[in-house]
Amino acid sequence: MVRRKLIAGNWKMNKNAAEGVALFNDIKAALPCAGNPEVCKGKVEILVCPPFTTLASVVAAAKGTCVNVGAQNVHWAANGAFTGEISAEMLVSTGVTHVIIGHSERRQYFGETDATVNQRTKAALAANLVAVVCVGETLAEREAGTTMAVCERQIRDGLAGLTAEQMKKVVIAYEPVWAIGTGKVATDDQAQDVHAFIRSILKAMFDTATADATRILYGGSMKPDNAAGLLAKPDIDGGLIGGASLKAGDFVAIVKAAL
Ligand code: PEP
Repeated sequence: MVRRKLIAGNWKMNKNAAEGVALFNDIKAALPCAGNPEVCKGKVEILVCPPFTTLASVVAAAKGTCVNVGAQNVHWAANGAFTGEISAEMLVSTGVTHVIIGHSERRQYFGETDATVNQRTKAALAANLVAVVCVGETLAEREAGTTMAVCERQIRDGLAGLTAEQMKKVVIAYEPVWAIGTGKVATDDQAQDVHAFIRSILKAMFDTATADATRILYGGSMKPDNAAGLLAKPDIDGGLIGGASLKAGDFVAIVKAAL
């Protein structure tokens, strides 16, 4: 099964609209295809996820290029009294095609649970967005030997009730919390072990074809110098990149490592 690699940048709470367009233009210029879909023929899927207020500007800048744009969160309700929240339909109206759900920073600082990940994922899929669902263990959980159990719970509960058909628009990101923004990257083998395990859970929850087709990204201090080793592993289908996605040269170097 050949899964097209996906390299996704999570800009987190960085870049206002003008800065975001400037970063996007730098990324586009550094890409081997210069953003021209006719040149790269979609060999690697590229995604950037700016903050909400920067989405519309980057969507406009990305029009006609090979780069997709996604958001970093979505609320599950269609509308209503949810001050400060953004619905899936609102995201769609900005032109984005993807949304990150359940990032560990949201779990850690904003009370995200597997149940709310599940609600957000269903809302994103109902709006025809691709859901990039994040899972991963903390350092304490890894040291306690519960990495697989934690990831299994997050996958089973976060994707509960989805159909195999809906899974066609789900991407998983395995992001060990201890590797995010710390410079400590999981070894290629540590990451591969968890990715293969997650795929086995998808097989048990859905079916072999779904498990084989679902892309599982690695995230956690992925950089130009460690990307090639991680991306060479059979169950690592791309990367969710934080810090390095804010530097056009580094982000594009990771894209090139996936080619
Ligand atoms: C992330 O925030 O998803 C991430 C992987 O961050 P970093 O690459 O900075 O570790």
